[in-house]
Amino acid sequence: MAALWWRLRPRFRCEPRLRCTARALSGKNEYDLLVVGGGSGGLACAKEAAQFGKKVAVLDYVDPTPKGTKWGLGGTCVNVGCIPKKLMHHAALLGSSLKDAQHYGWSISHPVTHDWSAMAEAVQNYVKSLNWGHRVQLQDKNVKYFNLKGSFVDAHTIRGLSKANKETLLTAENIVLATGGRPKYPANIPGALEYGITSDDLFWLKKSPGKTLVVGASYVSLECAGFLTGLGLDTTVMIRSIPLRGFDQQMAALVTDYMEANHTRFLKKCTPTKVEKMGNGRLRVVWKYGDSGQEETDEFDTLMWAVGREPETKTLNLETAGVKINSATGKIIVDASEATSVPHIYAVGDITEGRPELTPTAIAAGKLLARRLFGQSKELMDYDNVPTTIFTPLEYGCVGLSEEQASDRLGPDNIEVYHAFYKPLEFTVPDRKAAQCYIKMVCSRAQEQRILGLHFIGPNAGEVIQGFALGIKCGATYSQMLKTAGIHPTCAEEINKLHITKRSGLDPTVTGC
Ligand code: FAD
Ligand code: NDP
Repeated sequence: MAALWWRLRPRFRCEPRLRCTARALSGKNEYDLLVVGGGSGGLACAKEAAQFGKKVAVLDYVDPTPKGTKWGLGGTCVNVGCIPKKLMHHAALLGSSLKDAQHYGWSISHPVTHDWSAMAEAVQNYVKSLNWGHRVQLQDKNVKYFNLKGSFVDAHTIRGLSKANKETLLTAENIVLATGGRPKYPANIPGALEYGITSDDLFWLKKSPGKTLVVGASYVSLECAGFLTGLGLDTTVMIRSIPLRGFDQQMAALVTDYMEANHTRFLKKCTPTKVEKMGNGRLRVVWKYGDSGQEETDEFDTLMWAVGREPETKTLNLETAGVKINSATGKIIVDASEATSVPHIYAVGDITEGRPELTPTAIAAGKLLARRLFGQSKELMDYDNVPTTIFTPLEYGCVGLSEEQASDRLGPDNIEVYHAFYKPLEFTVPDRKAAQCYIKMVCSRAQEQRILGLHFIGPNAGEVIQGFALGIKCGATYSQMLKTAGIHPTCAEEINKLHITKRSGLDPTVTGC
């Protein structure tokens, strides 16, 4: 043993204050794969790797929010993202359905009220069942789970820190980083951190947030503001520039127009400057309006920052391992195989530079990576034509290029845009307004008219776009779309029937079947 120690001493010297690792003692790494971050990407990667009979461990740790909110295993999507968001969105849609129902003969006793606490408890219980489910799945697949916060000691060693500050050292041949992101707070706004919450808190509130100001104009902001309004809360969105940056701007305007027409208040071209707590417990928010710099103010019960997310890379001690990040974004630089600047260290999901911040892409990237590492696969993740949906009160689903992107890439004369305003059949009896139900298909103008982008605003947009995304991924053309029979009566069939081009200037309003 003494001889072995001597031989290994220069490479595997133990830090005095730390327990020696299995590698220092045996010369071998303890795990084939160590995943740091038990969210969408990390769990998928770990479970897939274990299918190949590999020795796998996952570290997952949630730092509480500044307000003290915390949650269990599963990452952002499960705990503070897709799942609670979609359920609360559904709760809001049920409110609209109750209104419609009366036109279809249901008698509903008035007043119709909504109980936030009951909804939150039901949603939170479901999320807790998912936390439990993830633990069971890891156990079933022989993946070792550590509730520890990981950081690098060297390129093969991770130090895991428990809530009680107890250190555990773990060594692995391969390390996958999947630590996701957390909401940002704006800098230099007095009271912002002290009095504001983020989406990480919203889904775990036990009591209704009441009159709420949501600052930001992207996915998180519009989705949360949408369901808060739908639940009957007085909700305002503050936008400093444009809504849904990066998305087709005609569609983005329709999404916010619908919200505005359905009682979400918008403060456009405004930036907050100060937040104060009043004697009555409410928050007084001060903001500047437009270029004039004119100050305005209002009182709210809750202020929610939805001003973007930052990757969880700061505390990983990446420099020690030699993992390179983009210093502007803090995200990890990876190649097409998800490898970082250190060949046996990989990264997937929201912490990676230039990738979509979506659950299905994180999951697929994690699985494919495990198959390449341990299953002799060569398949890379394909990040092209990733479909997405924004679950605003009227949902917006899309895949491929926006009209602006297609026009920039191919030139305006080389694209054809087919479009239609339509009225979902279900809207007719209650006479719901459908001015923003709109479809746009962006095609190449070359002979085959390949579809470059599809955009749909209407009920169940995610369900509609999912299937069309397959066609577009397979290179579908406009003529193939026209040849595909519709399913009647649906909203999706309006896509198959698109025939009016923007170029023609004809009225694109659909009338009749
Ligand atoms: P995460 O799921 O964030 O998991 C990372 C995990 O690592 C977390 O548990 C974190 O606590 C842990 N961790 C961090 N640092 C450490 C450390 N040092 N040691 C150990 N553990 C650590 N996407 C969709 O596709 N559809 C949606 O409808 C959707 N809605 C969303 C709604 C909201 C409000 C938000 C915020 C996001 C939404 N997303 C949605 C995005 C989606 O949640 C993320 O893209 C996805 O969760 C990213 O997965 P990930 O594996 O990269 O990271
Ligand atoms: P984004 O980074 O997409 O948007 C941030 C928003 O905040 C922008 O509107 C930005 O405005 C605004 N903003 C930034 N700083 C300030 C400030 N100081 N004051 C006022 N406004 C500010 O972040 P999100 O958190 O909305 O979304 C992150 C990612 O999460 C998304 O890209 C998406 O991939 C994922 N997600 C997916 C969902 C889904 O699939 N349905 C739902 C929710 C999230 P400006 O444009 O002017 O910079």
